[in-house]
Amino acid sequence: MTSPAAASSGVAVELKGLHRSYGDVHALDGLDLRIEPGEMVVLLGPSGCGKTTALRILAGLERQNDGQVLVGGKDITRVPPNKRDMGMVFQAYSLFPHLTVADNVAFGLKLRGRGSAERRARAEEMLDLVGLSQHAGRYAHQLSGGQQQRVALARALAIEPAVLLLDEPLSALDAKVRVQLRDEIRRIQLEVGTTTLFVTHDQEEALAVADRVGVMNAGRLDQLAPPAQLYAAPATAFVGQFVGLSNRIPATAANGAADVLGTAVPTLAGSATGSGAALVRPESVRLQTDPAGTATVAAVAFLGPISRVSVTLQDGTLVIAQLPSSEATALEVGDHVTVTVDPVPVLVVAD
Ligand code: ADP
Ligand code: MG
Repeated sequence: MTSPAAASSGVAVELKGLHRSYGDVHALDGLDLRIEPGEMVVLLGPSGCGKTTALRILAGLERQNDGQVLVGGKDITRVPPNKRDMGMVFQAYSLFPHLTVADNVAFGLKLRGRGSAERRARAEEMLDLVGLSQHAGRYAHQLSGGQQQRVALARALAIEPAVLLLDEPLSALDAKVRVQLRDEIRRIQLEVGTTTLFVTHDQEEALAVADRVGVMNAGRLDQLAPPAQLYAAPATAFVGQFVGLSNRIPATAANGAADVLGTAVPTLAGSATGSGAALVRPESVRLQTDPAGTATVAAVAFLGPISRVSVTLQDGTLVIAQLPSSEATALEVGDHVTVTVDPVPVLVVAD
């Protein structure tokens, strides 16, 4: 989707009406998802919403109770996992401890009966891709967590899989490495053009790497959209509150607009009408110092270039505003302010 090279090399993946229960738990409750050739879709949702189940069904490690899995238009429901041509990386470090980095990367090729010269060349190429050529002879215990996950990625890609599956591959890493490696994964995915399903509970991670993000809620998709669209036009209250921060500000909606703190704001598709709450992003909230203002500053959190200022409205509603820190320095706890919102489209939800 993103680059012409990617579009030509991947296959399409389709999950159609997938259901999977474990006893009384509906892990998947009619999941529909189509991933375009070469596209990276990130499944995002809270713990327990069914992300891993979806990925394991695609990999053939789990069987659906109902529904279909199609790769390149073909139903692969009865194809065993080792014939599915998929590379996987998991959260837990999964390198074979008794094999060198190079042998780990070449492992899948050995299983497929490739000769040693081809295995060595391919392992070198893959280690080069993930920036670990100089560590080919090391063992897992001699690598950092981030390096181990790079090797796991190289191993997954060495077999030139039709589909790459990543299940929370960064969750065990510390924040800085996590950010570096996620950008690296995206760079590599664009370079090789493999159709990819990436699963995470981390919304920032999802927005940063995806062509499209699928937000999962209780075993199905609430919305599938490019990151910017997901953020600007959430389809449901769940998406609006799970992706980015949203204030819930009392509002009255009618005829495609809502009155939010005295400003007429356009409403997004799917909005409720009548009295409810508008989901307003912190960067759309304006604060004006005003001795006669009915809202008061409750807290100021300095976050470097920006600050988050919490204010309490007269009715007790807590609203968070995000401002450049240069503007926030003038505000102190207890200050009276007037709160308004920018007229950017909002989702209005029933109370
Ligand atoms: P996620 O990856 O989004 O955290 P999972 O797909 O792992 O969610 O799990 C979805 C739901 O299915 C959860 O309620 C989980 O407890 C349940 N579940 C998953 N696998 C099993 C299993 N093998 N046995 C019983 N329950 C399971
Ligand atoms: Mg999971």
